[in-house]
Amino acid sequence: MEIKGSCLCGAYRFSITEPMEMMSTCYCSVCRKAHGTGQATFVACSKTALQLEQGEDVVSDFKTQLGGTRNFCKNCGSNLPVDAGERFIIPAGLLDDDPGVDTVIHIFVASKAPWVHIPDGGTQHDEYPPEWLEEN
Ligand SMILES: [Zn+2]
Ligand SMILES: [Zn+2]
Repeated sequence: MEIKGSCLCGAYRFSITEPMEMMSTCYCSVCRKAHGTGQATFVACSKTALQLEQGEDVVSDFKTQLGGTRNFCKNCGSNLPVDAGERFIIPAGLLDDDPGVDTVIHIFVASKAPWVHIPDGGTQHDEYPPEWLEEN
C-alpha cells in the first residue's frame, strides 16, 4: 500500500507505506488555534511507515505553552506531521489518498468550542484516552 500526502503548496510531500494505526479528532484549544478550525483530525502511523519525499527544508516549528511542538510549512502554513516518539502524528487533511480508516476516537471533548458538534459514533474522552497515557 501507499498513501500520498502533501501540504497546501506542495513543497512538502510524503508517503505512508503501512496501514494507519488510528484516526482521532481533537477538540482542544491548541488544535483550534493552530488549524483555525473547530477540530483537527489526525492519523497515526509507525516510525517506519512514513517516508518523506521532499520538503525537509520547508519545515518550521512552534513550541506551544504546554511543551508540545507543532510543525508547519513555512511556505503555506499547513500543519505537518509531528514526531511523537513511538509514531508520527499526521494531520489527516494532508492525505491525498483514502487512508482506509475513520475517526473512532474523539479527544479533548471537554474543551471543545461551544459551536462545535461532535458526530455520533466512536468514543469520546475529556482529554487523552487513558490507554494513550499508559504508553508514556
Ligand atoms: Zn507548503
Ligand atoms: Zn488538540
